[in-house]
Amino acid sequence: MQETFSGSFTQQEPIPEAAIAAAEAVLRSGRLHRYNLTPGDPGETGLLEQEFADLVGARYCLAVASGGYALQAGLRAMGVGPGDRVLTNAFTLAPVPGAIAAVGATPVYVGSDEELRIDLDDLVAKAPLASVLMLSHMRGHLCDMDRLMEIAQEHGLRVIEDCAHTMGASWSGTPSGRFGAVGCYSTQTYKHINSGEGGFLVTDDADLAARAILVSGSYMLYGRHVAAPDEEVFARHKMTMPNISARMDHLRAAILRPQLALLARNVREWNARYRALEAVLTGSNGIRLIQRPAKEGMAASSFQFRLPDFRADQIAGFVAGCAARGVELKWFGAKDPVAFTATYRHWQYAPEQALPETDRILSSLIDMRLPLTFSIADVETIGRIIRDEAGRAATSVAAE
Ligand SMILES: *Cc1c(COP(=O)(O)O)cnc(C)c1O
Repeated sequence: MQETFSGSFTQQEPIPEAAIAAAEAVLRSGRLHRYNLTPGDPGETGLLEQEFADLVGARYCLAVASGGYALQAGLRAMGVGPGDRVLTNAFTLAPVPGAIAAVGATPVYVGSDEELRIDLDDLVAKAPLASVLMLSHMRGHLCDMDRLMEIAQEHGLRVIEDCAHTMGASWSGTPSGRFGAVGCYSTQTYKHINSGEGGFLVTDDADLAARAILVSGSYMLYGRHVAAPDEEVFARHKMTMPNISARMDHLRAAILRPQLALLARNVREWNARYRALEAVLTGSNGIRLIQRPAKEGMAASSFQFRLPDFRADQIAGFVAGCAARGVELKWFGAKDPVAFTATYRHWQYAPEQALPETDRILSSLIDMRLPLTFSIADVETIGRIIRDEAGRAATSVAAE
């Protein structure tokens, strides 16, 4: 009998009981809007912002309606607008170029290296084209952040970090999101803490913080923020920033606060699953694993590998073989994008750009989630099925 797997790759853990109780208290209060506060009460959203700022060691934090909106707010705070070009990863998720398009700017794609990080040589080559880099730590793979920040400094690039997949991760001990001028995170269901939708922007720059808060829809109520700059900073910007509403409400904040306390534990749990799966796949026929650098403190909520020697039809057969045994894999090389696997070639609102090296890398890239509802034994089962199906697909080469 062939081994199969019956777990769900999209099943999250339940929301903690403490978060459910906090959400109930907000519902009973009737005060869901972040600025609807009783005197002296900072509110769930204000407290969440302060707690997240403390967690990553940032001066200022703004909670908003989505991670994609946080990216957009970062660009608006920096004054990026129509006609500007913004460098970003060719390998990222659609909300990243979407945030650039939302402010009327144009994405210029920087290629991916073999380990799925931004290609730093391509970044050097393209740095003169823009003054902002929206760096996406796609699928949690951190590039050499010391080198990246050197390049940014040399070329006068301001950096916005997209940490949708790296909340809880670090480079040389510094939290992801704390290298650039702005760090953005998502609290959407598939990310590292779960409020359905939501996001954060962090920065140490008082002017960027004030501008982002005003843009997010603070009216003249910005004084109710906790992790925010002083009135005099807002006074410089309050008449010039449009209100582009996308605040976070107290209900989502209430759900998130107890989850922050679990983040470090959950990161350890994801990493244990990642390493268990990696151990099963090490040395498997045709599978090229991603090398993780020693300086990276990973938060591996997903797993990637490549099948560089397989033809497209072999990869398609491999993916179908795994699916038939209950292992749901995403292939970035499929002709038409499905679910979350769109790549830069599919974002046709931006000018066409050719990145043949990145195409080659993505054409053999396989991606999967590692939800915490999977046990170590579950990921080992998944690993054996993948190994088995890769072996089968590899022998189909020899038979040809
Ligand atoms: C999910 C995601 C975002 C945006 O998050 P939303 O909260 O869904 O808007 C940004 N970048 C990457 C790489 C993501 O995966």
